[in-house]
Amino acid sequence: MAILEQRQKQVYTKGQSVFEMECNKPSLAGSVSQRACVFCGSRVVLYPIADAVHLVHGPIGCAAYTWDIRGALSSGPELHRLSFSTDLQELDVINGGEQKLYCALSELIDRYHPNAAFVYSTCIIGVIGDDVAAVCKKVSLEKGIPVLPVDSEGFKGTKKDGYRAACSALFKLTGQIPVDNMSQYSMNIMGEFNIAGETWLIRSYYENMGIQVVSCLTGDTRIDDIQRSHGAALNVVQCSGSMVYLAKMFEEHYGTPYLRVAYFGIEDMSEALYSVAKFFKDPEIMRRARELVREEVEVIYPKLLEYQQKLTGKRAAVYVGGAFKAFALVRALRLLGMKVVMVGSQTGNKDDYQQLRNICDEGTIIVDDSNPLELSAFLREQEVDLFIGGVKERPLAYKLGIGFCDHNHERKKPLAGFAGMLNFAAEIYSSVHSPVWRLSPYRQKSNQDAADKTDFQDSKACVFDSPTGFSRVYKNA
Ligand code: SF4
Repeated sequence: MAILEQRQKQVYTKGQSVFEMECNKPSLAGSVSQRACVFCGSRVVLYPIADAVHLVHGPIGCAAYTWDIRGALSSGPELHRLSFSTDLQELDVINGGEQKLYCALSELIDRYHPNAAFVYSTCIIGVIGDDVAAVCKKVSLEKGIPVLPVDSEGFKGTKKDGYRAACSALFKLTGQIPVDNMSQYSMNIMGEFNIAGETWLIRSYYENMGIQVVSCLTGDTRIDDIQRSHGAALNVVQCSGSMVYLAKMFEEHYGTPYLRVAYFGIEDMSEALYSVAKFFKDPEIMRRARELVREEVEVIYPKLLEYQQKLTGKRAAVYVGGAFKAFALVRALRLLGMKVVMVGSQTGNKDDYQQLRNICDEGTIIVDDSNPLELSAFLREQEVDLFIGGVKERPLAYKLGIGFCDHNHERKKPLAGFAGMLNFAAEIYSSVHSPVWRLSPYRQKSNQDAADKTDFQDSKACVFDSPTGFSRVYKNA
């Protein structure tokens, strides 16, 4: 396929050329990147703070576009699910929007009694120059709650700059209240957004190991948890693209170390628990981690083997926001016997892509900051059976008649953790083998679906070596 000349170095095929990936740069004008804007980056990070008002200062479209953007669940208040906007009009652009912002903020705080408020700057605010920080400071003093400006003007960088703006706003909440009753075995979960309740699952694993979870930034989050988070002994960061900035700020200001982990797939989930146990150097925590992994894997493993038999040899493509998630997905798909033939991310850096290169097979296409035309061409050329992406990638797969798994915003089932791995396998199986693709012109070319009229009753004995140390033979009764 023809790749735009200025993007040639953002696409690499393993084994076919020298690896000199270009990344971490603004999207090429006209290439229609899959990335969202700076504001959207901030919005997704802060969205799961459920007891705060989130006010979008700008025209109504910015708020509409990010309304309920992650589907992150809350075990209590649901203020985060409302989308408030100052709805700037032409006259506000001419005369300034500060007064409108002041009135909106005051009214929202009086009506909803939040524990904090976040005010997001959008593109137009960067153009007209409203002093958002001054308005926030005034309202904070009047209402007695933190009111935090988020410097997220849409045009001033990439989605990653939005993550950074969100982390800066979050950090201002920390260190405000004294911390006591904090266990020496305490941690913050970072970069886990509680989509379909995943935070609850991950949190329960750590708590079962005997670790105190102080806060989750940000998933089912409360303001007072964030205010206490600087007392934790460790930060454990998933979705490194969004939260590693915050972890680094904690390290610099509070001396809190951090670990990078992923919660997708048996390998990465187990490794996350083991690495946290190793950090605390407590034999009892490690014993509990081992026991937990053994018990969880024993439950899901036989069923995974059945899915593995039906998915072995199928070809997959992955395009996600952060590269760390891509690593975990490559490993999880391999465990199911699938071959990853294309993998990419919106925000990966050089080290991430080097690591991706190391774990991928020869011939795999690795791509940074791709666009719909490129992705469609890769999917066709690589004859993939499954595409894993988010809300913006879904239509590409459906138009081509390819199985799709949403690993981002819109899913309703947890895919993280051990139970999530089983959901993941089940979803992939049903999408890859769905008879609906036989009606697609693209798939009619390939005749692989003939074997799809299967149930699991005919599965044969299967030997499988899992990287978590399990080597078993399972037979159907
Ligand atoms: S902040 Fe700018 S780029 Fe982002 S949605 Fe609003 S207008 Fe569009």
